[in-house]
Amino acid sequence: MRYFPLFIDLKGRRVLVVGGGEEALRKVRLLLKTEVRIEIVAHELHPELTDLAIGGNIAWVGREFSPALLAGATCVFVAADEELNNRVSEEARKRDILVNVVDEAELSSAIIPAIVDRDPLVIAVGTEGAAPILAQGIRSELETDLPPFLGALTRAAGALRERVADQIPAGNSRRQFWRQFFFGGIRDAFARGSLDFEREVEKAFETGSSEAAEGRVALVGAGPGDPELLTLKAQRKLREADVIVFDRLVGPQILEYARRDAVRVAVGKAPGKHSFTQEQINSILIREAKSGKHVVRLKGGDPYVFGRGGEEQAALQAAGIPVEVVPGITAALGCAAAIGLPLTQRGRNQSFTILTGASEDGIPEHDWRFLAQKNQAFAIYMGVGTAGQTQARLLNAGIDPLTPITIVENGTLSSQRVFEAVIGDLASSIRVNSIEGPAMIYVGLTREQSASIVAFPARKKAS
Ligand code: SAH
Repeated sequence: MRYFPLFIDLKGRRVLVVGGGEEALRKVRLLLKTEVRIEIVAHELHPELTDLAIGGNIAWVGREFSPALLAGATCVFVAADEELNNRVSEEARKRDILVNVVDEAELSSAIIPAIVDRDPLVIAVGTEGAAPILAQGIRSELETDLPPFLGALTRAAGALRERVADQIPAGNSRRQFWRQFFFGGIRDAFARGSLDFEREVEKAFETGSSEAAEGRVALVGAGPGDPELLTLKAQRKLREADVIVFDRLVGPQILEYARRDAVRVAVGKAPGKHSFTQEQINSILIREAKSGKHVVRLKGGDPYVFGRGGEEQAALQAAGIPVEVVPGITAALGCAAAIGLPLTQRGRNQSFTILTGASEDGIPEHDWRFLAQKNQAFAIYMGVGTAGQTQARLLNAGIDPLTPITIVENGTLSSQRVFEAVIGDLASSIRVNSIEGPAMIYVGLTREQSASIVAFPARKKAS
């Protein structure tokens, strides 16, 4: 490591900025986050710098640089022409004053990292000048990962430190308190609003010193398959989970977001294979939460859409366990986007229905007459096994046999396959194409015939 990362207290100190253009302005904006006194030397100032000077935020101390201006400065930032860059760098080095010349690592004794600012939490990313674009990219990733309220939460923690030290014994209990604070219920309450926050903090003080940590469960929607369709909240929940209880529909790439030491429990319900009963899943969730774990119940698509999220939620609530629900992109929406299939279109359908093709005892009783009408549009989940019956019921109810259907298998994944046919051929399309993965059946919708939507290469047509 050639450059040592160091946070310098600039309060009450003085820095010099040489140059008055766009680059100088950028440095000044950063410096203004601190309480440093900023002096600037330039022939001309960018209008925004002029405003800052008029407002008294910075001091325009001269047009010409002279070494005397360096006296007493903690550091100097330079964004001028080549000659002046060289000269200021040399004079600063002679005096052992830190110097940063924009885009000139060789002339600089200090370089400015890419910064994520959640003051007082500040993250600095540097590559010793080797790859600024990499540093910027990492910074952007951190920006999206760290919610904006994190700075205020960190400040709130600072305000509680003494009280925690007084009331909660050091060691496990105190660690647990802070974990709850930064990663658990207290943080969630903080994100929601202040009253909730205070209540959660008091609760943690009450239990924190005595009892074991409070476990909780988040029912998290993982989306239809493509990991990029996870929400930011789902990613965070995954990172924070101690235990992840997941379905068959959730792919390994999504589990990559979990911590390495998180316990993973597969409770997949593959059709026709042995699987956990809903009661067994509920009791796993309750048991883990009761032992103080943060549990994520990860479900394909959205937890509330044909996902039995409501039942799990009720069972957990009955057991007194806090539950949170994080929505996901449900398969009917994710698959439609992946293949360019609009779900509503002006002048065609005024509503869009989602149905299940399977229930405990075979095919559910839908209002087939209604569905068979002209201009109805719907998507059938879990409809592969009962496709023949669905087709027969719709035809009996008078649907036009030429009503278009689109079947998407493994939607949003690289194994995605798409078949277009008509309702009269629904069952045979499934049979002929050996559709086996999870599939969405759309009825009454047609794709935009625009060549510009090419979401996945594996696009086939039913023969
Ligand atoms: N909660 C889930 C649905 C679970 S039911 C959600 O909101 O999406 C399981 C059914 O969802 C499957 O039988 C299939 O019809 C559909 N499904 C889930 N993922 C799919 C995918 N990637 N491609 C096509 N259909 C999918």
